[in-house]
Amino acid sequence: MGYFVAEEERLDRDGLGALHRRKLAAMFEEVLSTNRFYQNKYRGLSFDASCDPLDALPLATRDEIHGDQMSSPPYGTNLTYPMDRYVRLHQTSGTSSLVTGESAGPLRWMDTAESWAWFRKCWGVIYSGGGIEKSDRIFFPFSFGPFIGFWAGFEAAVEQGYFVLPAGGMSTSARLQHLLVNEATVLNCTPTYALRLAEVASEEGIDLGGSRVRIVLVAGEPGGSIPATRVRIAEAFGARVLDHTGMTEIGSCSFECAESPGGVHVIESEFIPEVLDPDSGSAVADGELGELVLTNLGRWGSPLIRYRTGDQVRMTRERCGCGRWFARLCDGILGRTDDMLYIRGNNVFPSAVEGLVREFGEVREFAIEVNRDTALAELVLKLELAGGSDGVDVAKRISTRFRDRLQFSPKILVVESGSLPRFEMKARRVAWR
Ligand SMILES: [Zn+2]
Repeated sequence: MGYFVAEEERLDRDGLGALHRRKLAAMFEEVLSTNRFYQNKYRGLSFDASCDPLDALPLATRDEIHGDQMSSPPYGTNLTYPMDRYVRLHQTSGTSSLVTGESAGPLRWMDTAESWAWFRKCWGVIYSGGGIEKSDRIFFPFSFGPFIGFWAGFEAAVEQGYFVLPAGGMSTSARLQHLLVNEATVLNCTPTYALRLAEVASEEGIDLGGSRVRIVLVAGEPGGSIPATRVRIAEAFGARVLDHTGMTEIGSCSFECAESPGGVHVIESEFIPEVLDPDSGSAVADGELGELVLTNLGRWGSPLIRYRTGDQVRMTRERCGCGRWFARLCDGILGRTDDMLYIRGNNVFPSAVEGLVREFGEVREFAIEVNRDTALAELVLKLELAGGSDGVDVAKRISTRFRDRLQFSPKILVVESGSLPRFEMKARRVAWR
């Protein structure tokens, strides 16, 4: 049900294994004869063309790719074809570690026409798997820049015959009117921006529950799989929330199916997922926490083979109610290894803080500051509350829930309404002092 490429999406585990080996062998035959990055990386290794088992190959990291682009500017050596075969360039904004505050610098990513067609195919799986239909009208409320953002989602929607509503370069208020007047049924944005649209709608007396939006398709932040954040978005729009994930350098790699019990499927027809213990590098058991490592199988212009995503996940290979055997990340992405906070002896992902704070309906927006000046890092939680809320009471209840669930209490500051930043794409709610 909801298949985009039925013969691949219906495969069982054995069938998927065979598909992986076939696609991998075809990719290696194409890539290894010309791609200097992998020629250098695999020099001296002996492996047969089927690369079975895959774990005979070394892992690739973001630092390695970034270092390669720095030493062979501007695009690095992970290019399988001559430059005139490439038709797209996208660029990341650069990640800054929440722990060290250091910026890793942007990555540039080139695609050939074939690689970009593959990217659109992955989006076809996301749309079809989520139950999006040809009668739907998909709304894209963000500005298109060098960030890969929803470019592929937009172009896939055009190619696959959906009605598209681009809404860049508009205020949030103007976007709301555009969404309502043109009867959009699917909203494609970050969880943060879905909540921002809902906030402005509420300020302007617009009942989004009365809009035609039936699906809010979110990505770019963990929020799409955080229960309290999902509930908030679903209630504001009277719509179903579907999560999916991706990265500029690897592609759009997962989707939530219409029968999902939560979490997202890895698009296993186009990716090989592994979950590894980040310290030992060995595979963890099904359902255990580890780092997601991905190999993409169709982006031959600049492929990533055994790429460490830095994303912490729990993965299961049990068959899903939708009939697919595609592995499922049970809770989406829990957080990035780099973003883990260490507060008073506890390891905390910002997504855990968000999940807790969003359970309080009085909280409109929040921000986290981590104060490293004290002997043990202290977490300061800034809250904007809905009008008429009793700040002292809300702060006390939130503090108790922190202690019960996360084993520490934050310092809570109630700030003036509208004083915290709002975001159109990925939110940056954590700051260091
Ligand atoms: Zn499913």
